[in-house]
Amino acid sequence: MAVQVDLTGRTALVTGAGSGIGRACAVRLAGAGATVVALDRDETGLKEVAREADVRAVVADLSDLDAVDALDLGAGTVDILVNNAGFQHVAPIEEFPPEVFTAMLRVMLEAPFRLARRCLPGMYANGWGRVVNISSVHGVRASAFKSAYVTAKHGLEGFSKVIALEGAAHGVTSHCINPAYVRTPLVERQIEAQAATNGIAPDEVVEKVMLAPAAIKRLVEPAEVADLVVYLCSPEASFMTGESIMMDGGWTAH
Ligand code: NAP
Repeated sequence: MAVQVDLTGRTALVTGAGSGIGRACAVRLAGAGATVVALDRDETGLKEVAREADVRAVVADLSDLDAVDALDLGAGTVDILVNNAGFQHVAPIEEFPPEVFTAMLRVMLEAPFRLARRCLPGMYANGWGRVVNISSVHGVRASAFKSAYVTAKHGLEGFSKVIALEGAAHGVTSHCINPAYVRTPLVERQIEAQAATNGIAPDEVVEKVMLAPAAIKRLVEPAEVADLVVYLCSPEASFMTGESIMMDGGWTAH
């Protein structure tokens, strides 16, 4: 059964809300009563979310940091900030395009900083706020060929803890959620690419590559991540802050 939390009167900003985990978070937060601002660069994805739930769609590219600073986030306070947007690029360091590395750090680390910088004063004024950063098992573990992703996620871990320390006196908590592989378009693209590169079937990529490090042999569902986001907004979670919550099926238990 889904976690029951009443977020009526709260406003949530979810980045990367047009697909996968972000979409599940936007739908779940709206279902819990929050006013949801769904941000993505993918307008089509946002239209689909808006058909599923009552959200305000904002089309923006988070790699443009000036545009992030100028975003119209509405008149009121953002009470819940879900930093979720991200993407993957797989290549050895010596072949990794520098401009892709920079773009990944911008979207997955600098944009969360810019958004937190904008949203925290309002949260402080209200004495309540929740920042939830969708990190990854790659926030605490490395994998070869994912240098920018691992670097950005490790950085996000540190940033989240600093928000926790600065926000504590103002009723603001901050967390990272650290999933292993989640069943989303981002992972579906990786499955197809690895199947083609290694000349094996997609099922084999999931079983032999993706699920190999985890004890629980299945992909995580986006709704499970969204449920944890909502839980972190509940009164029961008010003493938790600065956590990196592993949702990794035992990957890091090794
Ligand atoms: P997804 O299905 O690809 O969704 C990500 C969304 O973010 C897409 O709609 C994407 O738009 C958007 N986005 C990417 N770059 C953007 C930008 N510059 N500006 C605005 N929006 C942008 O991916 P997901 O799997 O749900 O991943 C969401 C987050 O979870 C990411 O931070 C990812 O690192 C993290 N995560 C995922 C997994 C997993 O296994 N799936 C595991 C751990 C952590 P486009 O479609 O146009 O790119």
